[in-house]
Amino acid sequence: MRNTVEILGVNVDKLTFKEALEVAWGLLKSDGVSAIFTPNPEIIMCAKEDLQLREILNNADLCTADGIGVVYGSKILKDPVPERVAGFDLTCALLERVSKTDDGVFLFGAKPGVAEIAKANLEEKYPGIKIAGTRDGYFKPEEEEEIVNQINQSKAKLLLVCLGAPKQEKWIAAHKKDLKVNLCMGVGGTLDVLAGTAKRAPKIFIKLNLEWVYRLLKNPSRIGRFAALPKFVIEVFKAK
Ligand code: UDP
Repeated sequence: MRNTVEILGVNVDKLTFKEALEVAWGLLKSDGVSAIFTPNPEIIMCAKEDLQLREILNNADLCTADGIGVVYGSKILKDPVPERVAGFDLTCALLERVSKTDDGVFLFGAKPGVAEIAKANLEEKYPGIKIAGTRDGYFKPEEEEEIVNQINQSKAKLLLVCLGAPKQEKWIAAHKKDLKVNLCMGVGGTLDVLAGTAKRAPKIFIKLNLEWVYRLLKNPSRIGRFAALPKFVIEVFKAK
């Protein structure tokens, strides 16, 4: 039985990073196709209007609080999640563990060439890791069946889907029944960071819960996306 807090209609797991990692590991090691999503305030705001997305998030096997806004949201509701569980960190911790097994990983998403650089970097960072296949995230609808076949033929157990939200969540939901992997994770810009085409904020920003400020400074065109944060806080207060 999952222990979750409902934030604007989205159920978010109340787990520490370590606990979330154990759950993710359990899902990877069990049969059937599981899904993990890591919603931030922007995705939760999106799911407020988009019922299909909300249902997809609520049907996931694990939904972690990515983004400090979600942590604060749960505090406002007086039902706090213990800490932030960023999708990127959870993915890296899982990849490290997977590298000690024979389980393959498929990297799907980002611009052409990015997943291949991420593969090379991962092979250096986690010796023993088996990257079973890669595929960029720019495709036509008629190519989707072939992508599913490519993933299945790779025999990967873990599938990272990095198409940005809500595209990745919807892609996973649409193809889950045809996939033969054990675990799909919708983890946005993770491949860009693994490939070095995007940078994670310096540790001090992360520690002070200011990673979003760093991202905004680096990429001011994201300002529209960050406008979701104050709206999110207002909506959570209203919901309370
Ligand atoms: N992306 C993709 N296909 C698309 C749209 C986006 O593969 O049709 C990729 C994009 O290249 C980037 C990733 O999705 O690598 C996520 O981008 P973003 O930084 O917007 O992710 P988020 O902030 O949602 O984690």
